Amino acid sequence: MPSVIGHHHSTRSILLGALLCLTVAVPRVTAQSLPTPETFLGFPVGADNKLAHWDQIFEYLHMASESSDRIMMEVLGKSTLGRDFPLMTITSAENMGDLDRLQEINQRLYNPDSIADETEARRLIDEGKVVVFITCAIHASEIGSTQMVLELVHRLATEESPYIQNILDNVIFLLVPSLNPDGQAMEVDWFNRTFGTEYEGAGLPWLYHHYTGHDNNRDAYMFTQAETRLIGQVLYHDWFPEVWLDEHQMGASGARIFIMPAAGPPNPNVDPWIYRTAGLLGFAQGQALDEEGKTGVLYGERFTYWWQGAMAWTGWWHNMVGMLSELASARNMASPSETPMAPEGPPAAAEEQPAGGRRMGGGPPRDLTARPEYLVPWRGGRWSLRDIVDYEYIITFALLDACADMRENMLSGIYAVNRRTVDKGRAGHPSGIIIPADQHDAPTVVKLLQILNRGGLKIDRATSAFTADGTQELCQGPSRTAGLSHRHSALRRNRLEPGHADGS
Ligand SMILES: [Zn+2]
Repeated sequence: MPSVIGHHHSTRSILLGALLCLTVAVPRVTAQSLPTPETFLGFPVGADNKLAHWDQIFEYLHMASESSDRIMMEVLGKSTLGRDFPLMTITSAENMGDLDRLQEINQRLYNPDSIADETEARRLIDEGKVVVFITCAIHASEIGSTQMVLELVHRLATEESPYIQNILDNVIFLLVPSLNPDGQAMEVDWFNRTFGTEYEGAGLPWLYHHYTGHDNNRDAYMFTQAETRLIGQVLYHDWFPEVWLDEHQMGASGARIFIMPAAGPPNPNVDPWIYRTAGLLGFAQGQALDEEGKTGVLYGERFTYWWQGAMAWTGWWHNMVGMLSELASARNMASPSETPMAPEGPPAAAEEQPAGGRRMGGGPPRDLTARPEYLVPWRGGRWSLRDIVDYEYIITFALLDACADMRENMLSGIYAVNRRTVDKGRAGHPSGIIIPADQHDAPTVVKLLQILNRGGLKIDRATSAFTADGTQELCQGPSRTAGLSHRHSALRRNRLEPGHADGS
């Protein structure tokens, strides 16, 4: 079970021996006295060649949860290498006191069969909040978002303004400050160890995810890794967020940021409302960047709606508005880069470089053709970790703000899409998949069912023989597969205890 830090003080001393020392050493703070990230770290977030280490980020977020009734930190479980893996829940104090009911409302909007009629649906839509799930830095060297969250959480914890109150009232913000805390710690340790030496800039010599490296972002449909399993519980069992943004970084040249919508082709099996809303929210982010005068904003190119193995994009299959952001990287994670400025005048050879640009090297940017997808091309100059933090801070608040403003629109849309999906499933073919119990490798069947269950699939077990499509299906008696029967009882609860699936 996840342990809860912050508001459930009775459990804290049992579950968090190590943190207890921390809370004794640090005097209790209030929201007003929560130090700024700069005071806490001793340097401004995003300063050249400076990185907040995972241990500091965890400590700061814990302090925020202790000081503010808007912030709750839960440790969902352990990362691959044994670090605490936190989820931050951020919403108004009033919503925080009513979290169980708000969670149930959201679960029901994602389970239209639990809603009696349109009158009840309307009531749930009126009372519900938009659940926004944001995940940071699954690719640990794409480190900016793990730094940005310090300023993000500080502002949400302390600011008294109509702008922040609107977000807190209408949104339940679930923040995973790092999808790969092990890698974050490795990368910062490696940066500090090599910085200023002849090895500065050498990449980490081992994988930033212990087993999967970069491919931890191809695991969201098969749940082989501890981190994926932890968020699978949040996504497909506990919360069913309407929106899921996964924050990444890309190459250092070309566009400064990619936002939604992505490029074609679309997958015809994803409801158009999902793609459309991803674009709408992406445009809200782009508009906020425009307001701040940020350039190099790209959408609709380079990243496609057809690639569906990535984290947030697997949310599409669950009617979640899966979104991606990709920031241009700085040199060696935290060192500023200086790119020669492109000469003024018309672009000479815009075609030579793909949008977003993968080309490395010292030349000026070549993609200088203004177009709807790239209104103000980036022309070169200085680019630092602070720039990455600024862009990510702007798009994160823009997303929260847009979701707060569109609360009713978002929830009624999600309900309609979920209703349509269930109706289509019932009318379509196939309307269900039968997995015969009588198989030569029963444990592997169970393993498959457990993976599907992690992804939120409902699994029912026949209790008597039946006929489907003219084929007689037998019901497997418990006497022949005692193990299967036992495990299946867990599946029928539609919720697996952590560690349960490793048996085979
Ligand atoms: Zn990435």
